Amino acid sequence: MNDTNINKCKTNSCCFLFNKRNIILKEHENCLEFLTTSEAEKYGIGNEMIYIGKVDGIDYYAAHILTKDKIQGHFLKGLEEIYGDVDEDVYFLTLRALHFINWLNKTKYCSCCGEKVKIEPKKTCIECSNCGNVMYSFINPCIIVAVLKEDKILLARSSHFTPNMYSLISGFVEAGEYIETSVEREVKEEVGIEIKNIKYIGSHPWPFSNSLMFGFIAEYSSGEITIDNDEIEDANWYSLDDLPNVPAYKLSFARKIIEYIIKIKKE
Ligand SMILES: [Zn+2]
Repeated sequence: MNDTNINKCKTNSCCFLFNKRNIILKEHENCLEFLTTSEAEKYGIGNEMIYIGKVDGIDYYAAHILTKDKIQGHFLKGLEEIYGDVDEDVYFLTLRALHFINWLNKTKYCSCCGEKVKIEPKKTCIECSNCGNVMYSFINPCIIVAVLKEDKILLARSSHFTPNMYSLISGFVEAGEYIETSVEREVKEEVGIEIKNIKYIGSHPWPFSNSLMFGFIAEYSSGEITIDNDEIEDANWYSLDDLPNVPAYKLSFARKIIEYIIKIKKE
């Protein structure tokens, strides 16, 4: 079976049905397809379907099931696996869908009065029927920064990375903190150096940790690399011509930033 492409939905109502972080796809005419909403309903999801958005006249919904059983005739794919197999607009909706599914799985009760809650179809917030409290999905802002020192880039590895993998400095923005301040703080905390000329270059939703990533480029200012030995286990300056293993995953924001820097340095 050709599993490198996913057919466009042939109905006007499709469902991204998740099993944990994987999406359930059906095989049809030697290709993969998203389930229709009526097919998804067969899994007993009832009113648990949430509206995600519309692309090219097709309404997309999302739902979640928990099963360890093999699903006959269907395939489970991680969102990272299907990147490039669907239109960018539809792929964006799958990321949005996973974000909402993560949130809904952690939001079973009202945070004010404790009443059991459920989301209304076509709404992306939950209003408690008991006390009227309205809950919206949470997003964790975080920063990622490429620090440059002449023609070298700062790369570091965390102990939870796969072996020999290096990436950019990143971290969560703390409450009450400016995003730019968090860039300086994370670099100082993790590798002990000062940076300057911090420039924002773009953002990237990252539903795997319910994050919205803010990307930056900065220049080295002063100090010697001193790793914190907590989050970071190694860090160094690397020539852009001789990088260690960096994320190969096409969706990785770190990868995109590194490729962007290589491109502008060549211009
Ligand atoms: Zn309530």
